[in-house]
Amino acid sequence: MYEGRKVYAIVLAAGSGRRMHSKQKKQFMEILGKPLFAWSAEKFDRHPSVDGIIITTSEEDIPYMKSLTGPLSKLCAIIPGGKERYNSVYNGLAEIRSIEHIDTDSASCENDPIVLIHDCARPMLTDPIIDDSIRYAAKYHATAIGMPVKDTIKILDEDHFVKSTPERSSVWLMETPQSFDFSLIYNAYAKLIDQEKAGRLMIPVTDDAMVVEAYTGTRVKIVAGSYENIKITTPEDIKIAELYLSR
Ligand code: C5P
Repeated sequence: MYEGRKVYAIVLAAGSGRRMHSKQKKQFMEILGKPLFAWSAEKFDRHPSVDGIIITTSEEDIPYMKSLTGPLSKLCAIIPGGKERYNSVYNGLAEIRSIEHIDTDSASCENDPIVLIHDCARPMLTDPIIDDSIRYAAKYHATAIGMPVKDTIKILDEDHFVKSTPERSSVWLMETPQSFDFSLIYNAYAKLIDQEKAGRLMIPVTDDAMVVEAYTGTRVKIVAGSYENIKITTPEDIKIAELYLSR
């Protein structure tokens, strides 16, 4: 609980991990003897403000996931993910709605849970990052962890000629958790899913903040996290994670 509001974490583990080129799915690959997803799930489990954890995974992996989640005392449900990341997020949000019997049309800020949405592919999650995610979501309604880019960014045209160069100081890399008032993010995702069903999805959806940006008038507050909070995507990332997690 945080200031009288329940706090949920959705841990996304329904990806295919294609870019890892491994037989085993990324979320189940062992890092220092622990499956990748478990590093962040256990961080949420031990955090005093987190009340419940929802894990999304592929339908066929649910029994295997169940066999690995015994140590999680706050686990509420393991549910099937969807085709795209945003489908998995929506399924997680719908599960919280049904657990909490929330009327998303009339929920007020005081009784609306806070939800942290996290890619399990980021095992270097820390307590301060969880603390800030909760605190900023409570204060600003929508927040995402990120870090300023270190390199110059170029926007290219389709022929790989430079179109423009954004000013570096205002360009940030987005990480997770991305955290919200439950009703705000649920209603934004409900609109997105309606558009998808109607075949009118305009843009590729790659994070949760952009769903709030596109479907609500709420501004998303970005809070600095850590350069270590990388997403494990390709095989060389595993070595980096082992180094960080072994300390
Ligand atoms: O593929 P990528 O690593 O960018 O995915 C980010 C996170 O979203 C991963 O933790 C992955 O398991 C999750 N995901 C999901 N459902 C999908 C696709 C990705 O839960 N359909």
